[in-house]
Amino acid sequence: MNVYDSGRMAETLASLGYRSVPEPEGADMVILNTCHIRDRAAEKVFSQLGRLRLLQQARAEAGGRMVLAVAGCVAQAEGAEILARAPYVDIVLGPQTYHRLPEMVVRASRAAGAVIATDFPAEDKFDHLPQVSTPPGVTAFLTIQEGCDKFCSFCVVPYTRGAESSRPVAAVVAEARHLVALGAREVTLLGQNVNAWHGVGPDGQPAGLAALLRALADIPGLLRLRYTTSHPRDMDAALIAAHRELPALMPYLHLPVQSGSDRILAAMNRRHTVAEYLETVARLRTARPDIAFSSDFIVGHPGETEADFELTLDLVRAVGFAQAYSFKYSLRPGTPAAAAPGQVDEAEKDRRLQVLQALLARQQAAFNAGAAGLDVPVLFTHPGRRPGQIGGRTPWLQPVHVDGPLQHIGSVLPVTILAGNPNSLTGRLHPQQPEQICA
Ligand code: SAH
Ligand code: SF4
Repeated sequence: MNVYDSGRMAETLASLGYRSVPEPEGADMVILNTCHIRDRAAEKVFSQLGRLRLLQQARAEAGGRMVLAVAGCVAQAEGAEILARAPYVDIVLGPQTYHRLPEMVVRASRAAGAVIATDFPAEDKFDHLPQVSTPPGVTAFLTIQEGCDKFCSFCVVPYTRGAESSRPVAAVVAEARHLVALGAREVTLLGQNVNAWHGVGPDGQPAGLAALLRALADIPGLLRLRYTTSHPRDMDAALIAAHRELPALMPYLHLPVQSGSDRILAAMNRRHTVAEYLETVARLRTARPDIAFSSDFIVGHPGETEADFELTLDLVRAVGFAQAYSFKYSLRPGTPAAAAPGQVDEAEKDRRLQVLQALLARQQAAFNAGAAGLDVPVLFTHPGRRPGQIGGRTPWLQPVHVDGPLQHIGSVLPVTILAGNPNSLTGRLHPQQPEQICA
């Protein structure tokens, strides 16, 4: 979502004559768009600020000025701390206020002292942002939902991104159409709880994500749809049916489970059990037999014992993931888990993470190796590293490289997979017939 937000921020600043440059050296403004989800991500902000401070000084010595802004969830959660530790920062703005950036830049360039916006404004930022104007490339992100009301024990999102909110159907469909007009062929819908999205359907009745996906699947030229990140509790029957019925909806789902122990899931306030998760996976597999799953895991949540951790390994073995993200529990001040008893020793968290990651890596390697010899539709997205090579993705998000001409970028074409390596695939294009172009 920060990638999407950064793009929108850049576009709001175009009205003041700013354009993006590849390097911070010599820039008139630098915005750090930050993540607060784990301690390590948040700490990076302060080391980056130290580095940018030197560039800001160099620019001042040359008679210029570099405006330094900190945006995103670290700004939201630690605005005061940023200004105390880095008083040379000119602008601090949270994720719900970046539509105010142009006005803040003008104020910052006139006034001494920092300009701050970390409230949760009543107005919706999306109503105040200019239309996307930069071609997104073949694959585009589109935020449809933000915030979270679930309050998992470990998580800062409800505090930094705020309460759950959904963008209206018409706004989402208009933005998707516009992205397609700018060249996008795949759209990934984004939200902290994307499958909690809700709106009003064309019949005036409440509608869920399934209805939105159906509306988007009708857009000509939009070949592939994805959504992330989903909460297991919000995988309702209509959404599962959409996986059976919509060919554009890719057979790949990121469905974070966090733990395979019911005791820890309860301590995490996840509000689902292992059995419920496995049942959801099974229903999705019945609806769409070729669906593959990825997930998020946290090891070492307060109270997690070796036996709980073993149950997580059992769950991983039971599901078989194509890919996954796994993290050591990171204490986030202000969250309920931060004050919980039974904090797990750092070395033990390290050990559990290594064991889990080794298992997940074996599953990913097996999933990719299993693609060898198959014919799969690949959406080509970019030139390869070598001349004459192009790269794309399978429906299951595996990166693929083939020898082929650049004009295939933006098309879905059948590819025979020659080798499935742990992190990517190599393949060969079928001899081309125009009618072979497929979704
Ligand atoms: N809404 C999604 C997750 C969003 S946060 C869901 O409910 O599944 C993305 C991931 O970061 C989470 O799935 C979790 O695995 C990880 N994460 C969040 N807070 C964390 C913490 N305090 N320590 C370690 N990992 C954390
Ligand atoms: Fe965080 Fe996801 Fe839980 Fe919300 S549902 S609190 S975003 S982990």
